[in-house]
Amino acid sequence: MNTTEFVTTINCMDGRVQEPVIQWLKKKFNSKYVDTITEPGPNLILAQDEDTDRIKSIKERVDISVNGHGSETIAIVGHYDCAGNLAEKEEQIEHIKASIVKVKDWDFGVKVIGLWVNQEWEVEPIA
Ligand SMILES: [Zn+2]
Repeated sequence: MNTTEFVTTINCMDGRVQEPVIQWLKKKFNSKYVDTITEPGPNLILAQDEDTDRIKSIKERVDISVNGHGSETIAIVGHYDCAGNLAEKEEQIEHIKASIVKVKDWDFGVKVIGLWVNQEWEVEPIA
Protein backbone atom coordinates (compact mmCIF):
# COMPACT_ATOMS: atom_id res chain seq x y z
CA MET A 1 0.00 0.00 0.00
CA ASN A 2 1.28 3.45 -0.93
CA THR A 3 1.79 5.28 2.34
CA THR A 4 0.65 8.60 0.97
CA GLU A 5 -2.73 7.22 -0.07
CA PHE A 6 -4.35 7.88 3.30
CA VAL A 7 -4.44 10.84 5.64
CA THR A 8 -6.46 11.04 8.85
CA THR A 9 -8.74 13.64 10.33
CA ILE A 10 -10.24 13.94 13.79
CA ASN A 11 -13.13 16.11 12.73
CA CYS A 12 -16.42 17.31 14.17
CA MET A 13 -19.47 15.22 13.26
CA ASP A 14 -21.07 18.38 11.79
CA GLY A 15 -22.13 17.70 8.18
CA ARG A 16 -21.06 21.16 7.09
CA VAL A 17 -17.36 20.53 7.66
CA GLN A 18 -16.91 17.07 6.13
CA GLU A 19 -16.46 18.00 2.49
CA PRO A 20 -14.32 21.13 3.00
CA VAL A 21 -11.91 19.23 5.27
CA ILE A 22 -11.70 16.16 3.04
CA GLN A 23 -11.12 18.25 -0.08
CA TRP A 24 -8.49 20.44 1.61
CA LEU A 25 -6.57 17.43 2.95
CA LYS A 26 -6.67 15.55 -0.37
CA LYS A 27 -5.27 18.57 -2.17
CA LYS A 28 -2.70 19.52 0.47
CA PHE A 29 -1.22 16.06 0.91
CA ASN A 30 -1.96 14.69 -2.54
CA SER A 31 -3.79 11.83 -0.86
CA LYS A 32 -6.45 9.62 -2.30
CA TYR A 33 -8.46 8.89 0.85
CA VAL A 34 -9.23 10.68 4.09
CA ASP A 35 -9.96 8.47 7.10
CA THR A 36 -12.47 10.45 9.12
CA ILE A 37 -12.88 10.07 12.87
CA THR A 38 -15.82 12.17 14.04
CA GLU A 39 -17.08 13.37 17.40
CA PRO A 40 -19.04 16.48 18.37
CA GLY A 41 -16.37 19.11 19.11
CA PRO A 42 -13.40 16.71 19.20
CA ASN A 43 -10.98 19.58 19.93
CA LEU A 44 -12.82 20.19 23.22
CA ILE A 45 -12.93 16.47 24.08
CA LEU A 46 -9.18 16.07 23.56
CA ALA A 47 -8.24 19.38 25.21
CA GLN A 48 -10.34 18.67 28.32
CA ASP A 49 -8.83 15.20 28.55
CA GLU A 50 -11.63 13.96 30.84
CA ASP A 51 -13.81 11.61 28.78
CA THR A 52 -11.40 8.69 28.84
CA ASP A 53 -13.72 6.21 27.09
CA ARG A 54 -14.28 8.52 24.18
CA ILE A 55 -10.59 9.45 23.95
CA LYS A 56 -9.70 5.73 23.98
CA SER A 57 -12.12 5.20 21.10
CA ILE A 58 -10.55 8.06 19.12
CA LYS A 59 -7.09 6.62 19.76
CA GLU A 60 -8.16 3.14 18.60
CA ARG A 61 -9.45 4.60 15.34
CA VAL A 62 -6.24 6.62 14.85
CA ASP A 63 -4.32 3.38 15.36
CA ILE A 64 -6.25 1.66 12.55
CA SER A 65 -5.72 4.59 10.21
CA VAL A 66 -1.99 4.88 10.94
CA ASN A 67 -1.04 1.23 11.34
CA GLY A 68 -3.66 -0.32 9.07
CA HIS A 69 -3.75 2.27 6.30
CA GLY A 70 -0.30 3.79 6.62
CA SER A 71 -1.50 7.34 7.23
CA GLU A 72 1.34 9.71 8.10
CA THR A 73 -0.71 12.79 8.93
CA ILE A 74 -3.47 13.51 11.44
CA ALA A 75 -5.47 16.74 11.18
CA ILE A 76 -7.47 17.92 14.19
CA VAL A 77 -10.35 20.20 13.31
CA GLY A 78 -12.35 22.94 15.01
CA HIS A 79 -15.00 25.05 13.34
CA TYR A 80 -17.29 28.06 13.41
CA ASP A 81 -20.76 27.55 14.96
CA CYS A 82 -19.87 24.20 16.53
CA ALA A 83 -22.68 22.68 18.61
CA GLY A 84 -20.19 20.44 20.42
CA ASN A 85 -17.75 23.22 21.29
CA LEU A 86 -19.46 26.52 22.02
CA ALA A 87 -16.22 28.48 22.53
CA GLU A 88 -15.29 31.33 20.19
CA LYS A 89 -12.58 30.92 17.57
CA GLU A 90 -9.67 32.12 19.72
CA GLU A 91 -10.45 29.65 22.51
CA GLN A 92 -11.13 26.82 20.06
CA ILE A 93 -7.70 27.40 18.51
CA GLU A 94 -6.24 26.85 21.99
CA HIS A 95 -8.29 23.63 22.24
CA ILE A 96 -6.86 22.51 18.90
CA LYS A 97 -3.31 23.25 20.05
CA ALA A 98 -3.86 21.30 23.27
CA SER A 99 -5.34 18.45 21.20
CA ILE A 100 -2.23 18.39 18.99
CA VAL A 101 -0.05 18.01 22.10
CA LYS A 102 -2.32 15.21 23.36
CA VAL A 103 -2.32 13.28 20.07
CA LYS A 104 1.45 13.71 19.60
CA ASP A 105 1.82 12.22 23.06
CA TRP A 106 0.30 8.97 21.73
CA ASP A 107 3.60 8.47 19.87
CA PHE A 108 2.29 7.21 16.56
CA GLY A 109 5.27 8.89 14.90
CA VAL A 110 3.14 10.84 12.45
CA LYS A 111 2.64 14.51 11.68
CA VAL A 112 -0.19 16.18 13.65
CA ILE A 113 -1.69 19.41 12.38
CA GLY A 114 -4.61 21.68 13.31
CA LEU A 115 -7.29 23.12 11.04
CA TRP A 116 -9.94 25.78 11.56
CA VAL A 117 -13.07 25.88 9.39
CA ASN A 118 -14.36 29.45 9.23
CA GLN A 119 -17.84 30.90 8.69
CA GLU A 120 -17.38 30.67 4.91
CA TRP A 121 -16.71 26.93 5.45
CA GLU A 122 -13.15 27.43 4.27
CA VAL A 123 -10.25 25.57 5.85
CA GLU A 124 -7.46 27.55 7.52
CA PRO A 125 -4.34 25.74 8.73
CA ILE A 126 -3.28 26.63 12.26
CA ALA A 127 0.32 27.71 12.65
ZN1 LIG B 1 -18.96 20.94 15.52
